[in-house]
Amino acid sequence: MSQFRKYLPPLIIIALFETVAVALWLTKDNVFYLLNFSYIGASIALGMFLFIRKYRYARRTVQLLVGLYMLVYLGIICRENMQIEGFWYYLFSGVFEAATIHYAVAKIFGPLVFGRGWCGYACWTAMVLDFLPYRTPAGPRKKIGWIRYIAFAASLVFVIALFLAKAENMERIMFLAFIIGNIIYYGVGIALAFVLKDNRAFCKYICPVTVFLKPMSYFSLFRVKCDKNKCISCGKCRRVCPMDVDVTDNSRKRENGTECILCMECARNCPRNAL
Ligand code: SF4
Ligand code: SF4
Ligand code: SF4
Repeated sequence: MSQFRKYLPPLIIIALFETVAVALWLTKDNVFYLLNFSYIGASIALGMFLFIRKYRYARRTVQLLVGLYMLVYLGIICRENMQIEGFWYYLFSGVFEAATIHYAVAKIFGPLVFGRGWCGYACWTAMVLDFLPYRTPAGPRKKIGWIRYIAFAASLVFVIALFLAKAENMERIMFLAFIIGNIIYYGVGIALAFVLKDNRAFCKYICPVTVFLKPMSYFSLFRVKCDKNKCISCGKCRRVCPMDVDVTDNSRKRENGTECILCMECARNCPRNAL
């Protein structure tokens, strides 16, 4: 029974993604959704399974499986703009297709269940940033998180301007925006990581998607919790956390709680298995 309980999280993820996959397949009459969400769900569940089996590179495996699929296959080959501009574009066009569905599942409603699991296991920007040398931040968090709201507003204004200007060939513009947007994200993300000695600096201060992710993940069903009876307050979990989360506080108001990407570095490094 305890063996089964151990593997419950990956089973829940598979069930969740399969529900979405089948529901979209049937309602949209498009087998792409079945294959797409089944693949993503299976990749994430595989990563969780590997983590439970204590495979060191479990999370990196999922990041590459999902991140490359979304960036190369959906973004470059299928020419779907899965960035935030693509979300606005399809939303304002009244199209409930790839980018809008992706946002609804991964970044708006999904975080109610799996928090910022997207950021830990699937984002193709972080997939690259996590290869950089500063896995744990060298210094304290900066108070410049407000930049994300400017980036969020800029993405919105950009798409509204295209609609107001009645730009022709919007699909081509959105594809170019996807390519250029990614080049900018990678450029800024890598530069910032080296300047601040923090791989996840882009996630903490710039990424506009966090405007959706943070409030929704506040209510997340999946959370890392601390067993106070085992914890010896050694502080190691805090030191290894890439997102500066105070995971020893079990309340929803824990410091930087909505920054947790469920990477489980804290749990892996806790000397008392308290997490
Ligand atoms: S914060 Fe943004 S860039 Fe970072 S992992 Fe999440 S979605 Fe990706
Ligand atoms: S690493 Fe473990 S024992 Fe140390 S403070 Fe964190 S939860 Fe407590
Ligand atoms: S180390 Fe723990 S608290 Fe920090 S982001 Fe990863 S899972 Fe969340």
